[in-house]
Amino acid sequence: MSPTARRLAWIPLLALVIWGGARACDFLSPSPLEERPGDPWNPPILVSLTGLTGRESVPLAVHGSYRLLTMDEESQVIYEDVGFEGDLTFDAAGIRLGQIHGDRDQLWLEPAGNEAIRIGDLTYDGRLRMDLERTRAGRPKSLRLSLELPLESYVLGVVCGEMATMTPGIHEALRAQAIAARSYALWRLSQGRSLRDNTSDQVFRGADFLTQEARRAVQETRGVVLFWDDTLLPSYFHSDCGGGTTNAKEAGFTKSEVTPLSGVLDASCAEQYDWQRQVSASRFDRLAERHDIGDWLRAIQALSKDPYGRMVQVRLLGEEDHVDLPADQVRAALRLPSSRWTETKLQQDGSLVVSGRGNGHGVGMCQKGAMRLAQKSLSAEDILAHYYPGAALHRLSTADQTLLP
Ligand SMILES: [Zn+2]
Repeated sequence: MSPTARRLAWIPLLALVIWGGARACDFLSPSPLEERPGDPWNPPILVSLTGLTGRESVPLAVHGSYRLLTMDEESQVIYEDVGFEGDLTFDAAGIRLGQIHGDRDQLWLEPAGNEAIRIGDLTYDGRLRMDLERTRAGRPKSLRLSLELPLESYVLGVVCGEMATMTPGIHEALRAQAIAARSYALWRLSQGRSLRDNTSDQVFRGADFLTQEARRAVQETRGVVLFWDDTLLPSYFHSDCGGGTTNAKEAGFTKSEVTPLSGVLDASCAEQYDWQRQVSASRFDRLAERHDIGDWLRAIQALSKDPYGRMVQVRLLGEEDHVDLPADQVRAALRLPSSRWTETKLQQDGSLVVSGRGNGHGVGMCQKGAMRLAQKSLSAEDILAHYYPGAALHRLSTADQTLLP
């Protein structure tokens, strides 16, 4: 039998096992906001500018006064001036700004007052951290750029990066998003991990993208975060659940069970976004090679689904062997919008056509659902109680400084 014929013989295996039924979920009442003594806390946040990292040269401009500072404890000013426009680059001695030689591998660029920095095509508030990466042999390689700005300013940039803030009737969803984004950022930093400005953490946008709608939502929720079990909740969120959110532990997002991330029915998202993708035979078969189960794949089998139809564990049947994997890992490898796929069809040419629903990993708050709930007049507190049942609202104060390492 040819590989194609052998592959076709396995098509019946592609029929997926239907697992469980939808669990009913009532809307929970939100918990009251917990206020603790102490002054408001708005710590500085460092966010990595991933799109501008790894380059050899980046155009930079500051209009007002600025200074270059060392990154050691003394925070020494090595240069100050008014106005800069030129390329941020490097040579063997270290970082360079146009003709200014920093002679160091790490520097801060700090504009005075509320002056923004133009980096590439984008404008950012805050101060810029510049790191020069070197090869093992010590040769300068590329630049790594991060921005430091107050938590509340960072949250504003995330609300504008994560939501279509001008959509009518979604003010309460923007407030919910601000609280979820604030909690997630602090939780991630509390784990000693860095924050990236893209979907691997939260999409963060600079000053060019800020809207009044988002500004109001952030101000109204200033300092409010989600707590669970007396500490910060890892408040994951995603674009579109497709009918129900999923259990964070089963999806591999948390090591232990986190009650507010158990997964809930999201009736307003069912049948809202159907997609179909064709996965090329080479990409499909690459999975077999990567997991050492033969040269090509016979099928994907669903081993378990969550109560709302999302794959949790799948089995890849290779030409020689099989392997069981978290569905989200397979989703990422096949570049599918979600692991909530409803049908897979193997084609004559070895490519795979997958139909599904939803977009994103499915853990925590569903942004599309949150917007629909806001348009139905639910408050941010109701929305958060729906997607993170059992979580408490907590306003940050200086007493919380111990949360960060
Ligand atoms: Zn949803």
